[in-house]
Amino acid sequence: MQTFQGIAVSPGVAIGEAFVVDSEGFRIPRRFIERDAVQDELKRLEASVEAVAIQLEQYGQAVAVQLGEQYGAIFSAQHQMLRDARLQTEISSLISQRQYSAEYAVSRTLRRYAKVFQNLENQHMAERAHDIFDIEKRLLRELLGGKREDLAHLSSQVIVVAHDLTPSETANLNTNFVRGFAAEIGGPGGHTAIVAEALEIPAVVGAGAFLNEVSGGDMLIVDGDRGRIILHPDDATLASYRQQAEQQRSQAAQLETLRDLPAETLDGQKIAIMANIEFPREVDACLARGANGIGLYRTEFLYLGSGHEPSEDEHYQAYLRVVQAMNGRPVVIRTLDLGADKMGLSPRSENERNPFLGLRSIRLSLKNLAGFRTQLRAILRASVHGDVRVMFPLISTLSELRQAKVVLRDSMEDLDEAGIAYNRDLPIGMMVEVPATALLIDRFAREVDFLSIGTNDLIQYALAVDRSNREVASLYNAGDPSILQLIKQIVNAGDEHRVHTSLCGQMSSNPMFTMVLIGLGLRYLSVPPMAVPEIKNVCRRVSLAQCEAVAERALRLDTAMEVNDYLKQELLAVMAQTAESTR
Ligand code: PEP
Ligand code: MG
Repeated sequence: MQTFQGIAVSPGVAIGEAFVVDSEGFRIPRRFIERDAVQDELKRLEASVEAVAIQLEQYGQAVAVQLGEQYGAIFSAQHQMLRDARLQTEISSLISQRQYSAEYAVSRTLRRYAKVFQNLENQHMAERAHDIFDIEKRLLRELLGGKREDLAHLSSQVIVVAHDLTPSETANLNTNFVRGFAAEIGGPGGHTAIVAEALEIPAVVGAGAFLNEVSGGDMLIVDGDRGRIILHPDDATLASYRQQAEQQRSQAAQLETLRDLPAETLDGQKIAIMANIEFPREVDACLARGANGIGLYRTEFLYLGSGHEPSEDEHYQAYLRVVQAMNGRPVVIRTLDLGADKMGLSPRSENERNPFLGLRSIRLSLKNLAGFRTQLRAILRASVHGDVRVMFPLISTLSELRQAKVVLRDSMEDLDEAGIAYNRDLPIGMMVEVPATALLIDRFAREVDFLSIGTNDLIQYALAVDRSNREVASLYNAGDPSILQLIKQIVNAGDEHRVHTSLCGQMSSNPMFTMVLIGLGLRYLSVPPMAVPEIKNVCRRVSLAQCEAVAERALRLDTAMEVNDYLKQELLAVMAQTAESTR
């Protein structure tokens, strides 16, 4: 049994067989072949070995000519390894005796060899492991040829383990088959993590290098609550996790009873629990969990899933589905927030050294005015079917906000000219995600109908910590006193100007922060659908006065660690108290 520690980004426990997507995108599932296919499989293996041997010889010769014999010798060593009789016998016997596919037999054997080298104390010898992985990759490339498997077309239940998956690859995972997900890189606020949560699959990211240890078909546990990946769990661990998964199922079933009850504090303060969605199909989960509306619809996922620029009608149909399903409840449609880690259709520009500080979000929309108007027209058209509100992301200056509003007015004129109906009083909101915006928030608050705090970005910009980088994940902290101060300032400005403020970053889905957020004055929390019942549950067990006292104390603490410890303690006390009173 081996345990790897990563960052928990989507709760729950998944137990199952690994499906490995390595950094080159090869997938090596444990696959068996029919007995009468063994000879053909051995021939496939032989052909791939021949092809790789020729490649290595050719590379060796070319390098020897250009750089000298000693460099060419690097490839000769690999060539010898590839031709090694013991290695060949081992791979062939996995095919002939265990009926493994050639891909799986190659991958399993070579990874075992590489591990032996990796474990050697001698640094020079340990580096030979790279040469073995290189042989594995070359053989797999030959064996798989052009017919790589498509993650979207799985046919059995698996846990996907990868070096990384982009948000759009994650979005395309088939949740009927993918039980869990774990990646070597990624940070707590990255969009891959957010999508995993939207798909409601337990996920861990930023676990560091662990893929070399895993082969397709290995038994794995992904603990999305504690951020652990457990390879080859022993029987006791398996039993304890199975029990935990069962407990979680029954807790979720218990919380379902809250669906039709309001999120109201013990002293009668109503809190609206809205849902964040990325895909229209998530509305079913929102309704099933009793969300009061959609507080954030991340429309950019329309691009990420489709591979082409959506037409006005494609935008409209997606929005219509959400608005109709929500049946009069508010739906906040955020305009495109592409760029940074959510790349759109065009490749990243060479000048984007710091994509999170680059051409992303509203900046991109204001550069692509035609596309922006297309989206705004679709939102306006959808506005006659329900309580639609439009929201601009990543506003960092007043002139940006004003420009966006001008484009909205232009889009209204387009519809007027075409005689198409829309809601002229469509509420206009903006996300507060940039510290500069938070500093001048009272000026922004005069020019919008609502504010929504995007803590995922606000934290990264305020603390100067990349939200998707595991190396600095420990510095990415929603409980940092500076973040609490910023939230307080934004909420106060909203109250002063009578515009409501919601909080839609991942922070709002962590029950540890519910009391402090209510205490800071928030009355709208927007969370992933999965988190709605748990957050509602906390709201119903606390009083406003209690929350205000918690916020006051938290604001006076000096460090994120102190704040987190204090908030955890308070939450535990509330839960213990209520458990006591329901006995
Ligand atoms: C945020 O930044 O908090 C937010 C909700 O937007 P996104 O996560 O899509 O950047
Ligand atoms: Mg954001």
